[in-house]
Amino acid sequence: MWYFSDEEKQLQEVCKDFARKEILPHAEKHDTDETFNIEAFKKMGELGVLGITADPEYGGAGMGCLAATIVMEEFGKACPGLTLSFLAHSILAVNNIENNASDEQKAKYLPKLVTGEHIGCMGMSEPEYGSDAVGIQTRAQKDGDHYLINGTKMWITNAQYSDIAYVYTRTGEERKNLSTFILEKAKGHYDVGKPIHKMGMRGSPTGELIFENSKVEKEHLVGKEGDSVYHMMKNLEIERLTIAGISLGIAQACVDQCLKYANERKQFGKNIGDYQLIQKMIAEMATETEMMRNFLYNLCYRYDRGEKGPVTAAMAKLQVPKMATKIALDAIQLHGGYGYSREFPIERLMRDNKLNEIGAGTNEVMIMIIAKNLLKETAQ
Ligand SMILES: Cc1cc2nc3c(=O)[nH]c(=O)nc-3n(C[C@H](O)[C@H](O)[C@H](O)COP(=O)(O)OP(=O)(O)OC[C@H]3O[C@@H](n4cnc5c(N)ncnc54)[C@H](O)[C@@H]3O)c2cc1C
Repeated sequence: MWYFSDEEKQLQEVCKDFARKEILPHAEKHDTDETFNIEAFKKMGELGVLGITADPEYGGAGMGCLAATIVMEEFGKACPGLTLSFLAHSILAVNNIENNASDEQKAKYLPKLVTGEHIGCMGMSEPEYGSDAVGIQTRAQKDGDHYLINGTKMWITNAQYSDIAYVYTRTGEERKNLSTFILEKAKGHYDVGKPIHKMGMRGSPTGELIFENSKVEKEHLVGKEGDSVYHMMKNLEIERLTIAGISLGIAQACVDQCLKYANERKQFGKNIGDYQLIQKMIAEMATETEMMRNFLYNLCYRYDRGEKGPVTAAMAKLQVPKMATKIALDAIQLHGGYGYSREFPIERLMRDNKLNEIGAGTNEVMIMIIAKNLLKETAQ
């Protein structure tokens, strides 16, 4: 366990209850049909979590990274796909606007995003630029009192359902010359391309954002031209910590399912939980999950107290999803043929978790960030 405040404990209970009633019963169907549980998503607005980190002035909960991670864990246990969409909205769109937009922009966009009347997404990745995010080529060219945007954003969570897109563009030849815009689908700022079909996270819609000479008024620019790299790097830290929360939820769901199954399934006249090989699997996966929980919430707690930085966020993003994949694979093993079948949620959890080793920066990129920063800090 971790030492949550009374407010955080209350949030955890409310989210647990919401996930049990509104998310879990529909998770399998949305995975099979590759559909989005928009009803539950909209109800998250009533629950008050869509603006978990947004200022109460705009209807937000005014809480921090640790609180957001609690929500990710609880929702992630039930349906990681829907939780990824929740993350794209609340952390990639809302939290970015909260931290980087002007007061005027916040007053315009946050209230509707926080209630769920509008759905948000964030466009960084492109067909040719993923890990190399600073290399993006979607261009915003100044043309009088507006910009013309051209390019394509790829892998965008919530694209098809989005009303608002927080989008990174190139505004100059220098590599770091990137600028951010808050775009509105209703104003024709972007089109949405074909849906992308996936092995996991199938309850989360993924698509392209397409810009063809899209005319965007200059008041949609966030901050100053060239501010984007700073916005991007700052938000990636909370994104990486909170996405690790989804993996923590996945690991805990696997442990819970294994404990239940080991106490029920009989082979050779005994519960399989009586066999030491099964006990070893359970002991290890429960211990690893507890380590992940303490590690992750400790880093979130420190983040909320100003101890920020790319290294700790990358450590969480590297280690928690990696361990959750191992746990999900062991959980399939423990369930035998049933684990490999779609009768149990384990195979879905395993497919869903694999994304968390890729999205928000791959494992390899996390290793690069950790090693480069540590070596630089200690170089003579
Ligand atoms: C389901 C899903 C949802 C997503 N949602 C969003 C979203 O909402 N918004 C958004 O902007 N993006 C989103 N993404 C994109 C995601 O962030 C990228 O997929 C990720 O950053 C990796 O980029 P890439 O897929 O282009 O892989 P690449 O960068 O092409 O990487 C391919 C391989 O090369 C490795 N590699 C790359 N560079 C190096 C290096 N220097 N050293 C060693 N190895 C390296 C990588 O680790 C990987 O193994 C999403 C992706 C998916 C699959």
